[in-house]
Amino acid sequence: MRQIQDVFPLLQTPKKIFITTHHKPDGDAIGSMLGLYHYLVKKGHSVTGVSPSELPEFLMWMPGVEHLLNYEAESKASLKALQEADVIFCVDFNDYTRTKHLDQALTAATQPKVLIDHHLFPKPVWDYGMSIPEKSSTCEMIYDFINLNNDNALIDNNIAQCIYTGVLTDTGSFRFPVTTASVHDLVADLKRKGLQHSPIHEEIYDSWSLIRMQFLGYVLMEKMEIFPKYNAGLIALSKKEIRLFNVSSGDMEGLVNYPLSISGVRFATLITERGDEVKMSFRSKGDFDVSDFARTYFNGGGHFNASGGRATTSFDDTVANFKQILSDIHPR
Ligand code: 5GP
Ligand code: MN
Repeated sequence: MRQIQDVFPLLQTPKKIFITTHHKPDGDAIGSMLGLYHYLVKKGHSVTGVSPSELPEFLMWMPGVEHLLNYEAESKASLKALQEADVIFCVDFNDYTRTKHLDQALTAATQPKVLIDHHLFPKPVWDYGMSIPEKSSTCEMIYDFINLNNDNALIDNNIAQCIYTGVLTDTGSFRFPVTTASVHDLVADLKRKGLQHSPIHEEIYDSWSLIRMQFLGYVLMEKMEIFPKYNAGLIALSKKEIRLFNVSSGDMEGLVNYPLSISGVRFATLITERGDEVKMSFRSKGDFDVSDFARTYFNGGGHFNASGGRATTSFDDTVANFKQILSDIHPR
């Protein structure tokens, strides 16, 4: 993969650009896609952003969401944009399988491909890019990308809101260890440019439905298991339990973090039965590598302290299997 600066000459004249991100996009995925979108449009390019699946409700306020295509609902228009593109940007993922249904089309595409991402172990399929696992978020890297092209002055309120959203959500509101001095410098720069951060926090964190809050109460009371011996916490939710409250996958966002707020818990797992697969989310504090854990046992990956995976066994078997692994490896 060539360094990202080598792509700048390609962008000297107006181009058709396709941007995509991972399936089930989060704040960093949509923030980086839209931040880059607004920047490239300002530079005179014709840009199409495609999300592999629907956006969560808490991001629907973001500037530019109305221009995004949802591949699952608009596959024809999405594939047309991909075919017509001169350049393809991939943000916040580093393995085409993370786009789910877009995997094949991206693999087959022959245009120059650019990666901007902070996950571990990128697949060697991009022509240009930045892959820096130490970065707090892909949005921080969009900021770096704009600065590398000497365009800091082009960062307007739309771009600032998008970048801030991904930095905010991927750092757990500036608390995770990835929150470097540079991250705070970035926020200071956005603030000096006029960014209003409070409304963004409200949109993202204070936009719960009553049923979501009640579901959380039920989960914490009835479904959270703590294993003090392993410094671990587990929340496992079957399809039936999820249906009981009729909550969406967005309503389950952040559930995995709750066990970590209990003193002594350093490893938290959320297992959810969805459609025909069992999805797992892993979070840790300190030196327990959940990216390695997800890769080793559950066909997944991600970051050192935040990862995900999936199982093809039944929900009950997956939960039993997970507990067996806990007692085998004895995390501390
Ligand atoms: P989440 O638990 O929020 O779904 O995912 C946490 C982190 O792990 C995210 O950074 C996400 O990109 C990564 N991740 C989630 N599922 C998978 C997976 O199946 N494979 C890989 N490689 N990474 C995943
Ligand atoms: Mn990210």
